Amino acid sequence: MKIAVLASSSRGNASVITAGETTLLVDAGISARRIKLGLEACGLSLGDIHGICITHEHTDHVGGLAVLSGKVKTKIYCSRYLRADLKSLAPDATYAFLEPGTEVRIGDFTVLPISVSHDAVDPLGYVFKADGVRLGYITDTGCITRTMIPALQGVQVLYLESNYDQDMLYDSGRPQDLIGRIEGQWGHLSNAQAGEFVRQIAHRDLRHIILAHLSPECNTPDCAAAAMQAVLDDLHHPATLHVARQAELLPWVQV
Ligand SMILES: [Zn+2]
Ligand SMILES: [Zn+2]
Repeated sequence: MKIAVLASSSRGNASVITAGETTLLVDAGISARRIKLGLEACGLSLGDIHGICITHEHTDHVGGLAVLSGKVKTKIYCSRYLRADLKSLAPDATYAFLEPGTEVRIGDFTVLPISVSHDAVDPLGYVFKADGVRLGYITDTGCITRTMIPALQGVQVLYLESNYDQDMLYDSGRPQDLIGRIEGQWGHLSNAQAGEFVRQIAHRDLRHIILAHLSPECNTPDCAAAAMQAVLDDLHHPATLHVARQAELLPWVQV
């Protein structure tokens, strides 16, 4: 299994995951043109996408979906309650519903959708399984829920939101209600919360951690990486750390 991150931050998110003969796009929060170019940089084309798994309806996750769905005829996987929102964006697409906690088969993948805690319509995280490898994909969640820990235990690759540094958020000059939304339980994970999550699920075979959805205003790649590296050092855990960025492709991370 391998994952490449076409873009990730509060401004736009899209990743591509491949196993066997199957390639999935996770979120389409950048333009269809950027998705196409990103896929080409990964040696793929739009026609290689077997399905699009959507986490939730915020623009930074579906902003490119309307144009993309006109270019690529593939199934969109989303939660049942999200369909009405996405139907207005991509009316001609075919949809498959996901129920949190119920695995579905998509080509060579078994996909487990997981409920996350975010101010959106039934938002989802995922565990993608194939070839004996498990990849956890958790973004846009204000807290670590009880169901996430058992679901994510045993993953070899973890794509994890590390949205903000607490001090930078407080010093950002943002309105207090926005700060409250971001750090609230329906908001986003801080660097410290991401580290705490890894403490809870770290195991010998957790080989790659991809920090994602960094806030351009309230975090930096160095700050997020340093916070997570301190946790890994404390655990004496040798996982390789990657930081996904908005403007640059994170090339294939393979297990
Ligand atoms: Zn987001
Ligand atoms: Zn969101």
